[in-house]
Amino acid sequence: MKCDEAKLKVQALVDNELSENEIAEVISHVQSCYRCRDDYVELLKLQRRMQGLLSHDPEWFEKLNRKIGRRLASSVGQMLFIGSYVALIGYAFYSLFAGREISLFLKFAVGGILVGVFTLVGVTVADRVRESKDDRYKGVMK
Ligand SMILES: [Zn+2]
Repeated sequence: MKCDEAKLKVQALVDNELSENEIAEVISHVQSCYRCRDDYVELLKLQRRMQGLLSHDPEWFEKLNRKIGRRLASSVGQMLFIGSYVALIGYAFYSLFAGREISLFLKFAVGGILVGVFTLVGVTVADRVRESKDDRYKGVMK
């Protein structure tokens, strides 16, 4: 990217009007060009003064990456946990109902507990799905 183009896009960057690809291009130019970096920094200072908050941190990209990594690790952890849990319950369920010497009452009682647990897990998962739809950071990853 050339300086002329970068200068136009730096303002759009500060106004948060660029696509993800354009942001990456402008950031990479700004990192390698001190004149455009000065423009960028001045615009940022101006914007911060006007808004009174730090909406465009120059390290936003690293922070975003960390956030995505954290979410990914958390999802993998949840899947492992829930998957193992379900597998264990399935195994217990199978052992119990395959055993012929176990009383019908016990089978019904444990069956009731299992249905209850699955219902609770289902409700929790449904809540989480609804929560993630309302996640205000979701658009950031688009
Ligand atoms: Zn430049």
